[in-house]
This record gives sequence, C-alpha cells and structure tokens, in this order.
Amino acid sequence: MHNLCLSCQSSLDDKKHLAFCTLCGSGRIFRTNENLEQLKVAHIDCDSFYAQIEKRDHRQWIAEPIAVGKMVVLSACYIARMYGVRAGMPMFEARALCPILRIVQPTFSKYRSENLILRQVVYALKNHHPKLRIEFASIDECWLDFGTQSNGSIRNSPRLTEQQKMPLTARKKVWQEVSAIQNKFKQEREISISVGIGENKLLSKIAVRCCKPQGFAVLSTAKAKNFLAQQSPQILPGVGRVTAQRLRQQGITRISQLQAQPLWALTQRWGRFAEQLHNMSFGKDKSSIFEKYKRKSNSIERTFSPCIYNRNTMQNELKGLCHKLAQQLQKRNEAGRTIVLKLRRKDLSIVSRTRSISYPISDSRQIFNIAAYNLDNEISQSENERRGADNSIRKSQLGYRLIGVAIKSLQDKQHSTKKHILVQQSLF
Ligand SMILES: [Mg+2]
Ligand SMILES: [Zn+2]
Repeated sequence: MHNLCLSCQSSLDDKKHLAFCTLCGSGRIFRTNENLEQLKVAHIDCDSFYAQIEKRDHRQWIAEPIAVGKMVVLSACYIARMYGVRAGMPMFEARALCPILRIVQPTFSKYRSENLILRQVVYALKNHHPKLRIEFASIDECWLDFGTQSNGSIRNSPRLTEQQKMPLTARKKVWQEVSAIQNKFKQEREISISVGIGENKLLSKIAVRCCKPQGFAVLSTAKAKNFLAQQSPQILPGVGRVTAQRLRQQGITRISQLQAQPLWALTQRWGRFAEQLHNMSFGKDKSSIFEKYKRKSNSIERTFSPCIYNRNTMQNELKGLCHKLAQQLQKRNEAGRTIVLKLRRKDLSIVSRTRSISYPISDSRQIFNIAAYNLDNEISQSENERRGADNSIRKSQLGYRLIGVAIKSLQDKQHSTKKHILVQQSLF
C-alpha cells in the first residue's frame, strides 16, 4: 500500500490504510497497492478547460450551464454536462438538450496564456528529473513519461535494466510533484486539473476520464481488463459518438463485448481500426511519449516549369513568397533572425544563401530585402561564371527551377519585441 497526501504531498506510512493525513489532517489521500514499477505514465488534463476559465472570469455564471463555442461546443461546464451537452456537439443540438444553456464565445488568447503557465510549471519538473519526457497533446493536456532514465528507443525494448529504470524513490517524487502542480493550479489559477497514472498512455488517459474533476487516479495493467469490461466503448480514446453509435448498431454497448470478439471478426467490420480497437479493449497501447520540439524554422518555396530566366520575374516571385511567409509568422506570432534563400538552377544544382541579422524580424518587406540581396548576388555570380571568353553571357543556361525562402532562429514575437523595447529604453 502506498499513501500520498494530495493536500501536502507527504508520502505517508506505506504499511497502514490511512483515512486522514497524519501531518496536515487532510482527507485527500491517494492510495494504491499497485506495483509502482508498472506505473510510469502520467496524464495531466484540465477539467473542461475553456468553460472553467470562463466561469472563473465571470463569477455570475458559476451556477449556470455554459458552453464555449460558436457553431460547435468546444467545451461544456459540468452543469451543462448534466443536461447531456458534450464537446464536439453542434450548438443547436446542445441548446435543444439544455434550453437555458449560456453560450460563450471563445477567447483563445486567454486559454493560450493559461496553457503557457501550465507548460512552464510542467517543464520545470525537468529541473529535478532531466530524463522525464513530456508530450503536450493539446492546449490543456500532456503526458509525462517517468519510466526510464534513458532517452529514445530503449523504452520500447521489453526489458529495462535496473540502470535504465527511474528509481522508485524518484518515481514517487514525480507523483508528489504532479500532485503539487494540481494544487498549485487550483489555488493560484483557480483551474482544476485531473491526473491519471498507468503503464501506458491509454490507461493513464482512461484513468483521467474516470476521475474528473480534480481527480487523481491509477489504472493498473492488472486491473485494466476487468475494469474496462464494464465500461462503455466511448471511454476509449478515438471512439467518438459516431463510432459508438455504429458499435451500438452491432449490439456492442460494453467493452466486454469487444474483448469477446476475435480480432478477425472485428477486422471484417472495422478494417484497419480493428486492431487498435481490440488492443484498446484490453488496455494495451504501444505508443510512446513523443516530445515535440518547438519549431526552429519556417520555409516556403515554389517550383517552375518551364524555368525562369528573368531577374525581375524571380524577384517578383520572391516577393510573393516573402509575403506569404510573413503572414504565417504573423499567425504564429513568431519572428526570426536568419533568412535563407534556396534556389535550384536549371542544371539541378542547388544553391542556398544564408544571412543573419542581429534582431528578429517578421515583416515581409524586411524579409524580402534580405532575401532579394542574396538573390541578386547569386544571379550576378552565376552570370559571371557563365560569361564566355567574348564577355557575352550564355543566358540560356541561367534558368531557375525553384525558389524558396526560409526563416530560422525563430522566437516568440512578444519576447523579441520586449527585448527590443528594453534596448530602446537603454538607448534613450
Ligand atoms: Mg481537458
Ligand atoms: Zn497532508
């Protein structure tokens, strides 16, 4: 038996079944008698994220059913859910189920800033556990893999050596810290989060679904099969309303019925989805935590057939590309310091010219100025290379099949402008 106080994160006497924390008196005790060796994936998920934030910011709506979204429900509060309102549902349907439903227009900037805070707090776990792997699956949920001490493919090999495993004490520490994140968010941001722990991504996600809101739960591999047997297939990720309805038409309303079907029988009806369905019904999931790295560059290119031979046409094409690139940057609120011009000549050779500046830019004209300078240089150089003995240029060889422009060393524009302002202030 393992006892963890979810209020003060004390690891309590593992021999006793405690109802209250002996240190802070809280009744929020998380107990499990599972083999901690197997529990290596945690899923952190905010409870009805958008709806919760809107209720926090509009106290007067606290006792009302609300749904965030326009045509489609993006997030429904727990009161609205009692009427059957669900995320992904068309708004007219939600309104029919719950006539007093308050419909709130989403404010994504607000949700994104909460996401940034969550990211910061979660990534800070890496300070103590550098090998912890983190995957943000969406704006309000992420997975943590604290199974091994090694990076990469070793995780998927059947047996881990003792050295590769994260020691038990370190794992318990991760649990404590995840519980602390849950508390911190509730207290400081007034956002409730649920935490699920399991051997794989699937089980941790199902554990979360079952303990919401503000829950903390474990679903062990040993108990998964029996637990899932009694549940509706809709508890499985990827089984939405449409799939659930198709299953119901086949008479399948419990996962036990899926477990009872041989894979070949499922394949006849479900094709490629069958294997996943079959595995999920037993709680099996081989997918690993995929750490995404922030994009460091953005590029855009165009090919020509036939080749372009004219300098002005090339410049115009480049202008168009820079304009599009700048629009993409604007959308993502990014700016970069390095501009790369890429060309493929008629003879298929590739030329790439890079130029870096000291401050990040995102404006299409600025990007174009730098890229066009590179283009000019390249065309002049290539003309020189092709200049015959009589000083005439064999123009026919000077064609280009492709032009591309990339921007690298990307950073958030807010950061870059902030720095800029600081520099300006120190100048004046
Ligand atoms: Mg969520
Ligand atoms: Zn306590």
